[in-house]
Amino acid sequence: MGVVTAARSLWLDELEFDAVARPALRGNLEVDVAIVGGGFTGLWTAYYLAKLDPSLNVLVIEKTHVGFGASGRNGGWVVGELAAGIEKYAERCGLDESLRLTRAVFDSVDEVGRIVDAESIDCGYAKGGVVRMARNRPQLKRQIEEVDHHCRLGLGEHEIRLLNKPETEAIINATGILGGIMFAPCAAVDPARLVLGLADACEAAGVTIVERTAAEAIEPRRVVTERGTVSASVVVQATEGYTRDLRGQRRRLVPFYSRMIATEPLSDDIWDQIGLADRPTFADDRYMVIYGQRTRDGRIAFGGRGVPYLYGSRISPSMEVSADSHRLVHEALVDLFPVLADTRITHRWGGVFGVPRNWMPFVDYDRATGLATAGGYVGEGVAAANLAGRTLADLITDTSSERVDLPWVAPPGRSWEPEPLRWFGIRSSRRIMARADDIEDRRGEEARLAMTLTRWLRG
Ligand SMILES: Cc1cc2nc3c(=O)[nH]c(=O)nc-3n(C[C@H](O)[C@H](O)[C@H](O)COP(=O)(O)OP(=O)(O)OC[C@H]3O[C@@H](n4cnc5c(N)ncnc54)[C@H](O)[C@@H]3O)c2cc1C
Repeated sequence: MGVVTAARSLWLDELEFDAVARPALRGNLEVDVAIVGGGFTGLWTAYYLAKLDPSLNVLVIEKTHVGFGASGRNGGWVVGELAAGIEKYAERCGLDESLRLTRAVFDSVDEVGRIVDAESIDCGYAKGGVVRMARNRPQLKRQIEEVDHHCRLGLGEHEIRLLNKPETEAIINATGILGGIMFAPCAAVDPARLVLGLADACEAAGVTIVERTAAEAIEPRRVVTERGTVSASVVVQATEGYTRDLRGQRRRLVPFYSRMIATEPLSDDIWDQIGLADRPTFADDRYMVIYGQRTRDGRIAFGGRGVPYLYGSRISPSMEVSADSHRLVHEALVDLFPVLADTRITHRWGGVFGVPRNWMPFVDYDRATGLATAGGYVGEGVAAANLAGRTLADLITDTSSERVDLPWVAPPGRSWEPEPLRWFGIRSSRRIMARADDIEDRRGEEARLAMTLTRWLRG
């Protein structure tokens, strides 16, 4: 059997991207800060470090090429959200602190826009918010409760508000709409242009990036790679969904798959029927998450989770290329917009993101060992990685800021269970969520028991 290579994302494909642009590491090296991983987390950290202290010698070590991971393949939502939600961080640090974190993530959406402008990164940044549709009664009920709850916590209408059916349909003309939510802190981007533009901005600020250099072990003050050992005062690990490949880290973050498809550019006539004129990103409120955006060149890029977890946290490029594994995503898209039934799908791809056992994204820096890390974004890392990078740069340079003591600055939680427990727990939770969606769609009843069980499995 031949080697299966991953399918290219729409974004990298459109760039006609040259995957061997940068040199690999050549032998041993000594730097001030070594960053492993050339995605948003690693690059934002490098960018802010170089801006805060231009005298620092910063090296980014990337296994394949910048943007190879989730950062070059995602849905392009720069969304001001952290997967764990306000309540989980409030349990750790109190509600006020958790709300401070929430606002910091909201602000990161604008901060990304600010850097995009300042560095002239041509990634089609458009801040149109997210329109989240309610397409059955339980989804509608949850949305009413959610907005009410968030408003009582102090969020404003300019941040999150309910839309009635006609208001929702005026933004997005999908099937089955009963109402919706407009969540304002979100921009649509072409993520590959953003991550590659950010890498160029890093280099312009004095950062060195080496590609095709895999770290084999990350230890205090050094990174062992296949091409030499890098000694550094500080080592930043930004390997997200791929962390399982590193020595001794198999159970730290579980790689979850998400898949995406892109349509051919749609005609004006079809866009008149669908809407999305201001390019808000869109989703509905099912448990098996779907997400989409109208791209700058008039396509729909659309994704969904739901690839089964692979035993042993395996990452398999074949999951990213098989047309069959994308069938459900395509069906979900046509279910929303039947007018797309005969539209050509030009791209199919997928990728992994990292999920920590407690489902809480984290930023951590241990001054004693010089080891730093951030991630575990559970599929919502584009804006969060900006905040993580800024925070790591503040921590490493000992810059006092309002970010360094946000509630997500804490060591990552406990590791996942060994197999087969891990496989059983994750697969069960996925099956329960799919079943819950089915019950809610067909019967219009809330699948409360299923969701309580899933929350329990998530710890
Ligand atoms: C299909 C898909 C859609 C998504 N959609 C969205 C979205 O719309 N909005 C959103 O907010 N989030 C989304 N996400 C999640 C988001 O893309 C990630 O949270 C974010 O990109 C994480 O950035 P990162 O730099 O931490 O990780 P990555 O981008 O995965 O970068 C990690 C890098 O580390 C490198 N690496 C790994 N191991 C080593 C090693 N041993 N040595 C050297 N280098 C190594 C990898 O090659 C990779 O380039 C999506 C994810 C996927 C997969």
